[in-house]
Amino acid sequence: MIELTLAEIAEAVDGRLVVGSSGATSATVVRGISQTDSREVAPGQIFFARRGEETDGHRFAGSAVDAGAALLVVEQEADDRVPQIVVAESTIALGRLATEVVRRVRAGGELTIVGITGSNGKTTTKNLVAAMAERRGASVASEKSFNNEVGGPLTMLRVDAGTRTLVAEMGASAEGEIARLTAMAPPAIGVVLTVGLAHAGEFGGIETTFRTKSEMVRDLPNDAVAVLNRDDPYVTRMAELTAARVRWFGQHPEAEVRASGIDSDASGTRFTLHIGDASRPVVFRVLGEHHVTNALAAAAVGSELGLTLEQIVEALEGATRAARWRMEVMGGRDGITVVNDAYNASPDSMAAGLRTLAQIARPGARTVAVLGAMSELGEYSIEEHRRIGLQAVRLGISELVVVGQEARNLHISAINEGSWDGESVFFEEQDAAFDHLVRTLQPNDTVLVKSSNAAGLRLLGDRLGEAF
Ligand code: ATP
Ligand code: MG
Repeated sequence: MIELTLAEIAEAVDGRLVVGSSGATSATVVRGISQTDSREVAPGQIFFARRGEETDGHRFAGSAVDAGAALLVVEQEADDRVPQIVVAESTIALGRLATEVVRRVRAGGELTIVGITGSNGKTTTKNLVAAMAERRGASVASEKSFNNEVGGPLTMLRVDAGTRTLVAEMGASAEGEIARLTAMAPPAIGVVLTVGLAHAGEFGGIETTFRTKSEMVRDLPNDAVAVLNRDDPYVTRMAELTAARVRWFGQHPEAEVRASGIDSDASGTRFTLHIGDASRPVVFRVLGEHHVTNALAAAAVGSELGLTLEQIVEALEGATRAARWRMEVMGGRDGITVVNDAYNASPDSMAAGLRTLAQIARPGARTVAVLGAMSELGEYSIEEHRRIGLQAVRLGISELVVVGQEARNLHISAINEGSWDGESVFFEEQDAAFDHLVRTLQPNDTVLVKSSNAAGLRLLGDRLGEAF
């Protein structure tokens, strides 16, 4: 973060400065990124005390100061050993400070902001784009899935005068959230990956999701670029809503950034990357053909950032599948491959995971899908679990192992589908599922473990990975 005086920060966040016993004045300069978790505070940083649903950050103000916080932003005075700025709402103040910091850095003229949204693939794409951005100088990218009203500004506050690229994942659990994030850090390049039922329960339907994700491009000025997925009909519609120049990616012949000849196995996906008339072969080690979409989006951004085709291919090929619980490949004993993708699950990513399982299986060997519930689907839950069960049958998955009551409809729909050589088994608890798998897995089986985070199957995946 850039340097600001306490007076400047107080003004930016619309708060009242209390210097307390700290000896600071309004001209005291603070330099340091911000935290909302006192355990993350490093000396010189700013601590924002937020009132969450479960805990109240004000309780941890003292530990933040002990950890070296240089400034507290609070809703009520909490610890007078360091200066405090008292605001009406800390989360809003956090957004305001991010807005001011980004505004100042942008005024320097060197910062390019890339905003990334979509129902699936944001983090994967963000990581790929970050690898591209590194090739043009200092860059800041969201950590983990920091993409909401807290993680967004925390990321933005890390930019400074030397930052050339800010790569910001922007998510939404309600309409208006992405627009608030793009107002804080206005993208020069706005990416929309997919519109699907990732959090349909919260949103109330695909049209609402469409409108919500559109916020990424709706406010883009005409000198900005909208990077849009030509293969997704909802994302395609967004071209009409934006003043920005559109760059299409996808497998659609009209997409300028395109993939052809896609072919995958458990070692990765090979395809030919086309940008306009130029093309190069790519070996992409992030498992699953659905990730080609994310690779293409990142390639389009890389090209907008001025990278050469060679640099783009290098960045894509440098990406590993190492991210924990995201198509993480484990196992190996007796040729058994365990793919642990239990970091999260939506109907689209579940479907994509199953397709990948079918594609990467060893010829003639079995495919086993160990699936838990997809949460946050609200009224769509029963229907979507049934649909995934049917899809497993249609893909000819050899065995479905369904874990947890919430996922039961997946099992029911599969066993009711007569035309199937495979079988489905149901377990209430993952321990029982684990015992079953340890007993029954056969050499050369490929196993996919997938559920929403809440269903917790990542543990089961890890245990299987260790067992084989
Ligand atoms: P979150 O909302 O949790 O931050 P995200 O949008 O950042 O999610 P990732 O973490 O990149 O997404 O991927 C989440 C899941 O979606 C993974 O299982 C991944 O394999 C799958 N996925 C990624 N891209 C696609 C896609 N284009 N279509 C379907 N599934 C996808
Ligand atoms: Mg994410």
